Amino acid sequence: MALNCFFCSECVVSGDNSKGRPLTVPPYGVAHTHCAEQDLMQKRLFRGLHIADLDEKCFAELKEMVLAEDNHRNGTSQEIDLF
Ligand SMILES: [Zn+2]
Repeated sequence: MALNCFFCSECVVSGDNSKGRPLTVPPYGVAHTHCAEQDLMQKRLFRGLHIADLDEKCFAELKEMVLAEDNHRNGTSQEIDLF
């Protein structure tokens, strides 16, 4: 089993924690925590959902749902503002 980071190819158990602690990233293998987080940000992946891959309609729906949930959680739940 390789102990090199899937993203930066450096050893994850070198004792150098500047890139975060070792982490298993299925199905790739091991990675540094920071390298994996950076990769997620670049792909705009959220819990298995590739946000960058959504078409405009789906993205608009997701955005509305997030905004509605945010309003709900902050106790400012009113009518959803449809522009
Ligand atoms: Zn790395």
